[in-house]
Amino acid sequence: MKQAPLALPVCPYCGQHFKYKEVMKNRGQEDIQCPKCKQKFKVMLESTFSILIAVMVMIILLVNVCLYIFIPNINFLYMAGVLLVGIISIVVMIPLVIRYVKPENAKYSTRTTRQKK
Ligand SMILES: [Zn+2]
Repeated sequence: MKQAPLALPVCPYCGQHFKYKEVMKNRGQEDIQCPKCKQKFKVMLESTFSILIAVMVMIILLVNVCLYIFIPNINFLYMAGVLLVGIISIVVMIPLVIRYVKPENAKYSTRTTRQKK
């Protein structure tokens, strides 16, 4: 099932949707059980997450450089504020790049759990 790069994850077995709050709460866990079909799956980050961070860092730097150029006597607090807003927006977007995958499809699956075709 192909999903948009930025979207809340769904259960890989039954397609059950999860609320933003649930995804945020479960983001640190390794295994999650679907409340609907009771199957267990793993939590992984979409590869777009690293791109997202890179883009955000560039935006933060760009905004700070612009502030510095156009406002000569800029208060350092404004630049710190830009940085803070950037970090918060990354954290807020984490549930949108989390993917729920079947254990056999997890990239970090160990040899012992790998199944034969
Ligand atoms: Zn399910």
